[in-house]
Amino acid sequence: MNLAVLLQTNHHNANQDAEIQKRKKQRAKVCLSEETDTQSREKMNIPVLFSVLLVISTVQAFQYTELAQYVDSHEEDYVEALRDWVAIESDSSNVLKRPDLHRMMEVTALKLRLMGGAVELVDIGEQELPNGQTLALPKVVTAQFGNDSTKHTVCVYGHVDVQPAKLEDGWATEPYNLTDIRGNLYGRGASDNKAPVLAWIHAVEAYQALNMELPVNVKFVIEGMEETGSNGLDAMIVAQRDTFLSDVDYIIISDCGWLSRRPALTYGTRGNCYFYAEVGGPKQDLHSGVYGGAVIEPMTDLIGILDTLISPSGNILIPGIREAVAPLTDEEWKMYQDIQFDMDNYKNKIGVDQLMYSNKVDLLAHLWRYPTVTIHGIEGAFSDPGTKTVIPAKVTAKFSIRQVPNMEPAMVKKQVTDYLHSVFAKRKSPNKLKVTMVIGAKPWLVDTQHPLYEAGRAAVKRVFDMDPDLIREGGTIPIAKTFQDVTGKSIIMMPIGGFDDGLHSQNEKMSRYNYIEGTKLFIAYLNEVSKIKRTSV
Ligand SMILES: [Zn+2]
Repeated sequence: MNLAVLLQTNHHNANQDAEIQKRKKQRAKVCLSEETDTQSREKMNIPVLFSVLLVISTVQAFQYTELAQYVDSHEEDYVEALRDWVAIESDSSNVLKRPDLHRMMEVTALKLRLMGGAVELVDIGEQELPNGQTLALPKVVTAQFGNDSTKHTVCVYGHVDVQPAKLEDGWATEPYNLTDIRGNLYGRGASDNKAPVLAWIHAVEAYQALNMELPVNVKFVIEGMEETGSNGLDAMIVAQRDTFLSDVDYIIISDCGWLSRRPALTYGTRGNCYFYAEVGGPKQDLHSGVYGGAVIEPMTDLIGILDTLISPSGNILIPGIREAVAPLTDEEWKMYQDIQFDMDNYKNKIGVDQLMYSNKVDLLAHLWRYPTVTIHGIEGAFSDPGTKTVIPAKVTAKFSIRQVPNMEPAMVKKQVTDYLHSVFAKRKSPNKLKVTMVIGAKPWLVDTQHPLYEAGRAAVKRVFDMDPDLIREGGTIPIAKTFQDVTGKSIIMMPIGGFDDGLHSQNEKMSRYNYIEGTKLFIAYLNEVSKIKRTSV
């Protein structure tokens, strides 16, 4: 039997059999019998052939059980690694914490370097502060493991900066001191996004520790400004498109969460158009006892036009917005119907008695695939405690519209601006309205039949023995759209965070279960991706 045939046989076995241990023994038997055959027929040197077969066996077989056992036996090391990372207050929104953020990037780079990765800390320039000063942005860490052109190359994106957190915000434990309570690891950044980044690193490390070749080349792009809008990253991605990113086949993002206790793959996110609507009148704030009744008040005008954005039942009243939305297909309806989602749990979690929609499909559809308007606040309004009798001279409303296919931010900008000016004109107010769109992030959506998602389903099946929920994210992860637009590569979002992890909120946590099983999921996923046929890249 020639080597090619042996190789194929071995590969075939490895891909098909779930019982790894049993398979290993079988394989050993096959190898031995083949060896005896070959030896008798061709008089080959036994030690040489045996070592060749061993090498083939190591390269081809996916020894999931061994890898999973390795992960289980290193659980405490992984928790300690997370503890070390959470202890670094890498809050990207607080300029005073910038030294910690720089240290976070260094620590990340060092960990990857110690694993033998080709690591770079990429300078992405400076950030201009409102006071005119500049501040160095945290460098972006890039790393590469494996450089085999016969294999696929995946690029894992993650971030190691965090949202602000203080004990007095209402945390039950010190936010930067990882605290284990009944298997939940509480700490700022635990779920968003430090544990998922570590899980990816540990997945690579597990292969290395067991001397198993990585099934695909693995690259990392890890940034430190995600929580404040990924300042500098877009330019870096554009700059590295033809270098670091040129041989990347697939991009993997694990910066979101499951919807329930069932693992999930995320195939879409909403975009966001964020608006300021400013109404200005008198040249200064006035006293309502002195001027009230004489002045046409900016706040009254502003509230009046804000009230025309959305109806009490959630209908967006801006002409053209609803018409642009892709219609709900029967297939989608069926998918939503199959998703595990408990309405009562959801209500309890957020503390409300009633939701906008009373059935699962409508609710999920309006969370994921329909736009919505949210009014966030009014700058210039009196909001302190007490009873100040002011007439604010200028007020600016902040509101946003979550974007879905096939809405276009440029069109939404025009629709909103025209509409607000038309309703404002009807008020015949002498005040001045100014509408600006300050963020125009597009939605992101992919085909769940793509081989990347097939591979995801297979990995979830192997690790959790169930099918994943295919879900969309109501929020915005603009980097997905940037990666897609700039590199043209396919992207998958593979979360490991729990549905109740409290991202951006008090008492953020990551469960040991999600962290450890998530690491196994990434290990299994790398193997599944290696099976994707070249033609489907
Ligand atoms: Zn995040």
